[in-house]
Amino acid sequence: MRQETALQVNGLRVSYLAGEGEVKAVDDVTFSLYPGERLGVVGESGSGKTTLALALMRLHKPPASIKGGEARLGGRDILKLEQEDMRKLRWSELSLIPQGSMNSLNPVVRIKHQMADAIEAHDSSMTRAEINKHIVHLLGRVSLPESVAEMYPHELSGGMKQRVCIALAIILEPSVIIADEPTSALDVVVQRVVMQTLNDVQQQLNAAMIIIGHDMGLMAQSADRLAVMYAGKMVEVAPIASFFNDPQHPYSKLLISSLPSPEEKRELTGIPGSQPSLLDLPSGCAFHPRCPVAVERCKQEIPVLRQIDSQRRAACHLVEEQAS
Ligand code: SF4
Repeated sequence: MRQETALQVNGLRVSYLAGEGEVKAVDDVTFSLYPGERLGVVGESGSGKTTLALALMRLHKPPASIKGGEARLGGRDILKLEQEDMRKLRWSELSLIPQGSMNSLNPVVRIKHQMADAIEAHDSSMTRAEINKHIVHLLGRVSLPESVAEMYPHELSGGMKQRVCIALAIILEPSVIIADEPTSALDVVVQRVVMQTLNDVQQQLNAAMIIIGHDMGLMAQSADRLAVMYAGKMVEVAPIASFFNDPQHPYSKLLISSLPSPEEKRELTGIPGSQPSLLDLPSGCAFHPRCPVAVERCKQEIPVLRQIDSQRRAACHLVEEQAS
C-alpha cells in the first residue's frame, strides 16, 4: 500500500524570462516527500535547487514564474492557493530556512524581539507572557540557553545564529521544512552541530524535511533519500544507502567518485567540463557533453525520470535499457 505523502510535487516547471529567452530553472520536477522523511537535494550551483525551494514556498520573484505542475500538501495544490491562503500556510505547514538566513537577522535588534515579531506576525492571539514562554521553549528546542533571547546577533557565533534561524522556522511547528544550504559559511565542526540540531528538531516535530546542499558527506549522514538535480531536472532519486553503494545515473557516479574515501586511497576524479548554460542547453540529455558513456541516442532524446526498481528512479537512456 502506498504511504500518504507529506508533499507531492508533480511536473513542476519554473522559468526565468531573460532578455535572451526563457530559462527553464526547474523543468518537469516530480517527487514525493513522506512524513518524517529527510530528502536531500544535491546538484551544482545553478542546477535549480534554490529555485525549487522558493517556488514551493511561492516566494520566487519576477522574472521567475511557475509555468506548470502541482505541489500537493494536505490535500491542496499550494501552487494554486490565493496569496492570503498561502501566507497563512507558510510557516504553519511549510517553512523555509533560506540560504544565508543567519545574515538576515537584524544586527541591532535583540533576538527575543526578532522572535516575538515573527510569532506575532503569525499568531496575534498570544499574550506577551505566552510569547516570552514560547521563545524560551523554541530556544531550548535548538539547544540554545534562555540568555540568548537578550542578546544581539553580533554577540552570537555563526552556529548559534543559524540555530536561531532554525528556531524561527519552527515557530508554528510546520509539517514540512525546507532547509536551503543550512550549513553554508560555517566551519566543518559547527556544520555537524547545526545539522544535528536540525535533525533533532525535525524528529521532535515529526516533520518531513527537504535539505538542499552540495556537501555529499553531510547528506550521507542526514538524508534518508537523495535527489540529484542537473540543469533544472531531477536525474536520480534513491534511498541514501543504495545511492552511495550503487549509483545509477552517470552524473551520480561521477559525483561519488569525486569524493575522498578514508578507506580507500585512490585518485580523485573530477567531473569533466562544466554545467551548461540554461539558456543554451545541449540537445537530448543535457549531461551528454560531459557523460563518459553517452551514446548517439543521448544527443537526440531527452531522458525521462523513470522508476528503475521499487525505490529508485533515474533519467538516463542506458540505465533504462539495463533495467528493462
Ligand atoms: Fe549519459 Fe546518455 Fe545517460 Fe545522459 S542519457 S546520462 S548522456 S548515458
